[in-house]
Amino acid sequence: MRSDAAEIVCLTHPVTRDELEVRLAALLRANEYLEVGDMLVRVPLEAGVCYLGDPPIDIKRAFNNADIAAHGEQTVRFFTGELQKETVLTSRMESLQQTALDRREFHIWYQPKYDLLTRKCIGAEALVRWQSAELGFLPPGKFISLFEGNGFISQLDFYNLEHVMQFQREAKEKGLPVVPISVNQSRVHMREQGYLEKMKALVDTYTTKGIELELTETAFDFTDRAIREHSLDVVAALHAMGFAIDMDDFGSGYSDLSLLNQLPLDVMKIDRSLLLASEGSERMCVVLRQMVDLGHALGMKVICEGIETTAQEELLIDCGCEYGQGYLYGKPMKRADFEEFLKTHA
Ligand code: C2E
Ligand code: MG
Ligand code: MG
Repeated sequence: MRSDAAEIVCLTHPVTRDELEVRLAALLRANEYLEVGDMLVRVPLEAGVCYLGDPPIDIKRAFNNADIAAHGEQTVRFFTGELQKETVLTSRMESLQQTALDRREFHIWYQPKYDLLTRKCIGAEALVRWQSAELGFLPPGKFISLFEGNGFISQLDFYNLEHVMQFQREAKEKGLPVVPISVNQSRVHMREQGYLEKMKALVDTYTTKGIELELTETAFDFTDRAIREHSLDVVAALHAMGFAIDMDDFGSGYSDLSLLNQLPLDVMKIDRSLLLASEGSERMCVVLRQMVDLGHALGMKVICEGIETTAQEELLIDCGCEYGQGYLYGKPMKRADFEEFLKTHA
């Protein structure tokens, strides 16, 4: 057994995976609280397990694998072949990210937003995809959190926003239909040095007209009060520059209602999970209806995400929701397809 400030390493005789999982979970629970003076302090513990295996692997590598496994969602996690593949993919993505940006491998796809009553396209959301020469097609779920962790998201979001601003300018110049387009902004920007200056430079080159920024509640989920207040100020500054602000995935997390007061919000985007929950439950239907009313009463437009069926559409119309986005109206599509789509659906 070896220990240092943050980790303890244990070697054990071979036991079955289930048995080991039970024993480790119990061990972690039993040691979760530490007495410091007269205080009881909770120290969250997690365990990563790697089998030394047959054929045997190098002990150093085993430590490393166990360490990788430890950084998951469950308290006890095993290093598996899948995890090995994920780890390799992660490091490949990191080593290729900058080249990919230079080679223009990140593409923006556009997903239409609809007026539920007129069934016309009234806007779109810009969603990034990575068409990698080495790794193939990658959806944002594969790389956004990695890039948030290593900071590359700053460059990528900026690149995407500029692309969308250019798209709007060109559509106007070509006399094509123009609808507002929303662009996702990572929570990372709330603490990024120089973010507002860079945004201001973009605004001076293009325009904020027809551009919305989507932020999730997680952008303000800081326990440190000063940091939270700073992120509120950042959004106020973006709004003052002329960007419309959308609260994305609303209703998916803790739904901190004080944010509705503290932020200059123009659009409430209701999360798909709330729509799904409302389909099966009268009580959730009441919550959904009240949420829509709340958004309207605060002067926001209300749009629901992830509409796939006409039954869901009817439910939303019945709740007073005026806008929607989802596969029922259109999946995210490439730029050229979206331009064609707008000609007949806007
Ligand atoms: P989001 O902003 O909540 O985007 C909505 C996601 O729901 C998109 O997934 C979209 O394709 C999916 N979706 C739309 N309609 C339906 C539907 O009817 N049913 C279902 N099941 N899903 C639907 P996507 O494109 O995979 O994006 C996932 C997330 O990645 C986005 O969630 C957003 O948080 C993030 N993301 C995408 N592009 C960017 C970006 O440029 N920058 C940043 N920071 N994040 C981005
Ligand atoms: Mg979004
Ligand atoms: Mg969303």
